[in-house]
Amino acid sequence: AHLDRMSAVEPAVHAFLYTNAEEALAVAADVDTRRAAGEELHPLAGVPIAVKDVVVTRGMPTTAGSKILEGWVPPYDATIVERIRAARMPILGKTNMDEFAMGSSTEHSAYGNTHNPWDLTRIPGGSGGGSAAAVAAYEAPLAIGTDTGGSIRQPGAVTGTVGVKPTYGGVSRYGLIAMASSLDQAGPVTRTVLDAALLHEVIGGHDARDSTSIDEPLPGLVEAARKGAARDLTGLRIGVVKELSGEGYQAGVEARFHESLEMLTAMGATVVEVSCPNFDYALGAYYLIMPSEASSNLAKFDGMRFGLRVEPDEGPVTAERVMAATRGQGFGDEVKRRIILGTYALSAGYYDAYYGSAQKVRTLIQRDFDAAFEQVDVLVSPTAPTTAFPLGAKLDDPLAMYLNDIATIPANLAGVPGISVPNGLSDDGLPVGFQVLAPAKADDRLYLVGAALE
Ligand code: GLN
Repeated sequence: AHLDRMSAVEPAVHAFLYTNAEEALAVAADVDTRRAAGEELHPLAGVPIAVKDVVVTRGMPTTAGSKILEGWVPPYDATIVERIRAARMPILGKTNMDEFAMGSSTEHSAYGNTHNPWDLTRIPGGSGGGSAAAVAAYEAPLAIGTDTGGSIRQPGAVTGTVGVKPTYGGVSRYGLIAMASSLDQAGPVTRTVLDAALLHEVIGGHDARDSTSIDEPLPGLVEAARKGAARDLTGLRIGVVKELSGEGYQAGVEARFHESLEMLTAMGATVVEVSCPNFDYALGAYYLIMPSEASSNLAKFDGMRFGLRVEPDEGPVTAERVMAATRGQGFGDEVKRRIILGTYALSAGYYDAYYGSAQKVRTLIQRDFDAAFEQVDVLVSPTAPTTAFPLGAKLDDPLAMYLNDIATIPANLAGVPGISVPNGLSDDGLPVGFQVLAPAKADDRLYLVGAALE
């Protein structure tokens, strides 16, 4: 049914870069056989899933939305893909994204735009717009995204889907094509909070192949989602982040946010305002730390090891010249912009002024979270300042594009988990997201509050 739906809507939505129909059908048939034979299977066995194209999949092309990886077929699976396969979930295909996950609209993909199913002239968010659009358009019931600064939560918000960025270290990064290693996390994109909890429990948990993986069991996520559905939040303390509202936030986004706060109060929660003064500097710190790490991570795309290789038009074919020609042609403008920015920020003489200062700001943001979580159990804000904007509207203005992540970036800098749940429609008839943030390793609280709001 999902493959049929893909055939029907893909020409308009373009959420997928690769369709894995044959293998998906074989996995589904195998699940049917096993179930008929009485075998006990995982609750998600046979439930199809779409995977963002930045996650490596054995035997399926993986491009990260870039021409530089065109034609590359990974010889191994990411840990999360191994776990998805072990649960016998059919993988429908790979979803479109901003090149190397850099962007907020999926317009930086080298393979064309993805369209928001709510209004095809608008962006589906980014960088994981393909995963969010696939779920919103009923092409897939579940999808995997990755979130370095908001790429799961912001697409979730603007497509009316649920998106979760787990605690840093809670889900293995082995087999993720790294953007900024200290910020990246993979997580679920789904239509319900319970679905997200089920999927999070499949992909999460310790992995010896990721040195930053937390060696502890996950808290009970499905249990928390079921508890939240009873809508009793008696005793829960909720902090509204003062810095994440006001100027720049659309009136309809603010209005839905305040209505949800009233609902949470009616469910027995105590809602107070909390100040996190250093959040004002989060965007600035992120756009130094992320490009610095990305410039280093992307150095491996040299025209020799993976995918595209371009030889110079004339002159000697040296390693350096092949590298320059390949990277010149293979990377898009946004990727080049960030490599240049990151290389500059890390260079001798500037390192302390830029990268060093950004790391200090990062610590101050972590301290803001620590102080806030001494007063409250969770923090809340709108997920994104506006609803989906028209395709092309911010393409020529990188700063305007970056400002979309103002509310999602602090969580990545501090490593804390966050969820975006659908929060009704703004005055323009487009979906709005409600963000919940919890202390590290307390991902269960996201599901408790998320399910209560659903
Ligand atoms: N939009 C943000 C950026 O461009 C976040 C990207 C992400 O989370 N992968 O960096």
